[in-house]
Order: sequence, then structure tokens, then C-alpha cells
Amino acid sequence: MQWETVIGLEVHVQLATRSKIFSGASTAFGAEPNTQACAVDLGLPGVLPVLNEQAVAMAVQFGLAVHAEIPEVSVFDRKNYFYPDLPKGYQTSQMYHPIVGAGEVEITLDDDTTKRIRIHHAHLEEDAGKSLHEDFHGMTGIDLNRAGTPLLEIVSEPDMRSAKEAAAYLKAIHSIVTYLGISDGNMAEGSMRCDVNVSVRPKGQDAFGTRAEIKNVNSFRFVERAIAFEVERQIELIEDGGKVVQETRLFDPERDETRSMRTKEEANDYRYFPCPDLLPVVLDQAYLDHLRSQLPELPADKRTRFQSELGLSAYDANVLSASRDMAEFFEEVHRVCGDAKQAANWVQGELSGALNRENLSIQHSPVSAQQLGELISRVLDDTINGKAAKQVFQALWNGQGESADAVIEAKGLKQVTDTGAIEAMIDQVIAESPAQVAQYRDSEPEKRGKMIGYFVGQVMKASRGTANPQQVNGLLKEKLDALL
Ligand code: ADP
Ligand code: MG
Repeated sequence: MQWETVIGLEVHVQLATRSKIFSGASTAFGAEPNTQACAVDLGLPGVLPVLNEQAVAMAVQFGLAVHAEIPEVSVFDRKNYFYPDLPKGYQTSQMYHPIVGAGEVEITLDDDTTKRIRIHHAHLEEDAGKSLHEDFHGMTGIDLNRAGTPLLEIVSEPDMRSAKEAAAYLKAIHSIVTYLGISDGNMAEGSMRCDVNVSVRPKGQDAFGTRAEIKNVNSFRFVERAIAFEVERQIELIEDGGKVVQETRLFDPERDETRSMRTKEEANDYRYFPCPDLLPVVLDQAYLDHLRSQLPELPADKRTRFQSELGLSAYDANVLSASRDMAEFFEEVHRVCGDAKQAANWVQGELSGALNRENLSIQHSPVSAQQLGELISRVLDDTINGKAAKQVFQALWNGQGESADAVIEAKGLKQVTDTGAIEAMIDQVIAESPAQVAQYRDSEPEKRGKMIGYFVGQVMKASRGTANPQQVNGLLKEKLDALL
């Protein structure tokens, strides 16, 4: 039997507002426990929530970015349940009239093909507090700082068909929210978390299978691993004559497995009802137009433009547009040097390699986009060769010079293109290498091409890497062949 995987994601994005969604308390991460929850976040008697307009604007910007319908009216509902990290006894959320309607996101797969994933809706809600299990032996600590932090929950249609597609979708969402600047997207700090709904069905069957929902997966890698485990579990279960039950499961990264938490609750278990403390949100056209006019160029548009206008490959365009910081750095390098392909190669090659080695993000690159652009210009105008360029890059990286030109000057890396000077170095190398010359002379003509490498190396060394390699090659061949 051939099986097909079906996946739908509910992604929770913490919005980067400075204060909570219904109160003035700070949302900053990492404060001492219980120092940032105010009376409103705790739902104490006699206080009323006031909606943070910034959270509304951010949710709408997301909606516009995924080409979603934005309904004129949205409404907050109470989702009622008990949990120690929810002292109010209900979560203020949106059930029946969410702020963002149906939209879609384009994802890019490994083979550079794209696929559209439909978004069912996105709604605003408040985050709950946090239960801390690690620091307390036999007890649970409660930190309510997170209570009331604004969340945008983005619910996809069950359009994904593999763990890879799910990870690509999550990356696309991450890239959109960080481009928009509506979230820092920091998954390690919980700014983005997702519930993964997984089912399997026999290939060719129309009806979906019963799904399990894996809660709170907080990294791209864990999403893939949780799905891989879950798919295998469900297939084995069905093939052994069992049935998948609709339930909520937990992914355990240590053991690389999912475990049952509870059977799935239904929406009506939560007794949703419109929150009597909050007015419906009404958005007019002028407000939407204003927010639309503020949208930056989005990742999918950048990717397309990098290909059509700059002639980059699909692969390069995809890598360079994935993060806004990377895209802007690349664009600046390109603006300075004027060669998109070279700019792309240097940003993805030398620069990304160095950043990865030192675990730095591109905003903290010791080599600025301006410096890298100038360095590339010096390769393009033949002032230095590729080998010297790497030395210049390293020097700039280490802070040993203000600009490529300064480093080239200080280190004497200017490329030697003067034929006379190169010939003199060649003559010297030939004079000092009688054994290699004899070997060259005695070898088969088709093997000589390879042997020339030794002489090129010596001449380049003699020039401290500054001789023009093409000229060295050509002149060497002439001179050696003249000795035959
Ligand atoms: P709930 O709100 O109870 O979690 P929804 O019907 O709103 O349920 O769906 C939540 C998520 O589950 C959505 O992202 C949806 O795409 C996904 N989903 C629904 N049915 C399936 C299925 N059979 N297999 C995989 N995912 C599914
Ligand atoms: Mg759900």
C-alpha cells in the first residue's frame, strides 16, 4: 500500500509590540519571573482590557502580505479553560470573526520549484504564562510574564504533503513576519511555535485520514523530525489493523518520538463567547490602504526580481531573499560593485562561510557591504586577482584596514600584469628548477598541461600571489615549450 501524508500547520507568532495586547505591561523577553504581568494580564476584578492598536496593525500587515481578505469587522471571544498559567480562566482569542481571512503563501522546495499553500485564516489572541518544571523539584513554577503577549495564530489549510513542505512553509512564514518586522521570529525564545496536524491516507483516496495534532514544536528541524516519526507511527498502526485516534500529542526531541497528551477537545468544549469587555474591531478602507502603502518588498517579490532583473539563478535568488538582512546586505554589495553574480557569490561564499564559522549574524558582519562591494570592484577592474582578494577579505574581516584599497596598498597586493616583470619571474623559476624542466620535457605532450601547475605555483609564490594567473599560465607555456 502506498501512503500519502497530509499536513496542516497552526503557527503562533509573538508580535513585536512593546506592550501587551490588552495592557501596558512590557513584553520584553528574559525579565525576572512575574515582574511583567499587571492586573489586566491576571484578570483581576475591576480592570478592563484595552486593545493595543499596534497588534491590530501588525496582524493586518501580515494579512495583506499573504493576499488575504481582511474583513471589515472582527470580534474577540473568550476561550474558557483552566490551567495554572492562565489565571483569568479564559484566553481572549478570536473564534468566529478573525482579523485575517483566507490567503496564501508561496513556498520554495529543494528543487527550486514553488507551491502555493492556502491559509485558512489568522487570528489575534493573547499568550498564556509559562509553567517551569525544571527548576523546582516535585513542583511547578509559574511565570506570568508572558501572559497577555500578543500572538497571531496563522492556520493553514491541510495543503502540505511532506515534512519538507511543512518546513518550507514554516520558513516562508518566518521570512514574511521578519521582513514585515512584526516579529523577531526567534524560535529558541518561543517567538514562533507551531502545532503540527498530521494524517495519512492511501494514495489516490480523496477523503482525509484522522489526524493527530503535535503541540508546540519550536524549531524547523523538530517539525521535520516530529512529522517523520508521526507518519511512520500512523502507517504502522493502520497496517496492523488499528485506527488513528484524533488526539493531541507532544514531541520529545530527546527520544525523537511523539507521545499522547490528551484526546482532542472540540471547539464547543471551550464554551467560546464574544468577550463582553472588548468592542468589535472595525477597519475602514483608508486604514487598510495606509498599511498597504507601508509594506516593504516581500520575500517572494524579491526572489522573483533577483531572477528577472539581476539574472540570478533560482537557487541564489532563494537563498539571498530568505532573510531581509541578507537580502539588504546583498543589494548594497551589488549597488557598490555593479555585478550581481559576483556579489551573490561573495555573500554566499566567503562572507557566509566566515559568519558561520564565528557564529555571527549578517548584521554583525565585521566586513560591511560597502567594503565587500569595493573589494569585488577591485577584482572586476583587475587591480587584484582572486587569490589576493581572499587575503584582502581576511584583512578587512580582522579589522586590518579601512577599505579594500587601503589593504591592497598596505600589503602590496596589486596585481602584476606587466609582461616583462612576469617573464623575469618565470625565467628565474625555470632556472631554479632544472629537474622539473627535464621532467616536463620528457613527459607525454598530453601530460604537460597538468605538470605546468607546479611552475604556476612557483611563479605565483615568487610574486606573493600578485601575478595575473592567466598571463602566468600563457607565458609559462610559451617559455617551457620553447625549451622542448
Ligand atoms: P482545530 O481548531 O480543532 O485544531 P481545525 O479544523 O481548525 O481544527 O484544523 C486545525 C489544523 O489542522 C489546520 O491547519 C488544518 O489544515 C489541519 N487539518 C485539518 N484536518 C487535517 C487532516 N485530516 N490532516 C492533517 N491536517 C489537518
Ligand atoms: Mg488546533
